[in-house]
Amino acid sequence: MSRVYNFSAGPAVLPEEVLREAADEMLDYKGTGMSVMEMSHRSKAYDTIIKEAEQDLRDLMNIPDNYKVIFLQGGASLLFAGVPMNLMKNGKAAYIITGQWAKKAYQEAQKYGEAVAVASSADKTFSYIPDCSDLDIPEDADYVYICENNTIYGTKFKTLPNTKGKELVADVSSCFLSEPVDVTKYGVIYGGVQKNVGPSGVQIVIVREDLIANGPALAYTPTMMDWKIQADNDSLYNTPPCYGIYVCGKVFKWIKKMGGLEAMKAHNEKKAKVLYDFLDQSKLFKGTVNPDDRSLMNVPFVTGDADLDAKFVKEAKEAGFENLKGHRSVGGMRASIYNAMPIEGVEKLVEFMAKFEVENA
Ligand SMILES: *Cc1c(COP(=O)(O)O)cnc(C)c1O
Repeated sequence: MSRVYNFSAGPAVLPEEVLREAADEMLDYKGTGMSVMEMSHRSKAYDTIIKEAEQDLRDLMNIPDNYKVIFLQGGASLLFAGVPMNLMKNGKAAYIITGQWAKKAYQEAQKYGEAVAVASSADKTFSYIPDCSDLDIPEDADYVYICENNTIYGTKFKTLPNTKGKELVADVSSCFLSEPVDVTKYGVIYGGVQKNVGPSGVQIVIVREDLIANGPALAYTPTMMDWKIQADNDSLYNTPPCYGIYVCGKVFKWIKKMGGLEAMKAHNEKKAKVLYDFLDQSKLFKGTVNPDDRSLMNVPFVTGDADLDAKFVKEAKEAGFENLKGHRSVGGMRASIYNAMPIEGVEKLVEFMAKFEVENA
């Protein structure tokens, strides 16, 4: 067996320890004589799995009791509709467009109400986070929407926008559990788990309970997308993505063991620094993002020559560094260095880049 350094943006690297544990439990989960894949979601064993997963997530993020945690399915993309359906009581919301995922959410919201773009960084191919300290937020907006970490472009909100008292809704798919967060600043935090937390197929919504107390804003919201029904049923309204939630639960325990979100942040900052420091002194490679807005998770870079970029990606792959090609919409390279990427992975990548730079000077 050999494992590569996997820089995929998602689905992405998971902690090896978690994968080994899941493998050990594959045929017989804790004496039940069956795999978690084979057991009823109403069984006692599964009930413990999903309850512990929720509790561990609450502990890690310090989620107050007046927030619900729900496990859903359908991709973060389904929540682009789920957010307006549940929250657009006045039929209006403000969107900050910092990349393709924010734009898709904005476009989807337009089907259900009036989505107003209040800021955008499209003018410079989303290479920065716009100033959001004094935006023109409509008086009757139900919420202000952000994509907190822009997976494709490699930017991250370092300061949350001034929402002028409106609820903040954040897609955190690619920065979930990468550092501590103050949940009380948000009305809704949500994300797909396949970037930093688990296998694709699971989405997590953390929502302040009063926002869903009367059910969804739009009466025709499908039952499956009704956050109140899902919360009232402890995410077991129907069969949830059982195996995926089980793996997420293992990742939560792994993060706890590693020291929680403060420790994750230190680990992620250390890794990102290795890569950004290299990019800042390199004569061949350069980062594409405004330095103040750099993501700890997704690091895009280019040589400035598309053929050389392709050569780099190819040679890197041969050397065991996988999935470094940039997103199809932007080209160049991107190294995603999520929680589970060990520091050695980044150090070795940088060594390889230095060698490539000398060889192609
Ligand atoms: C990957 C990603 C999505 C889309 O996730 P799906 O689960 O494929 O729908 C949405 N938002 C962000 C920030 C992402 O990184």
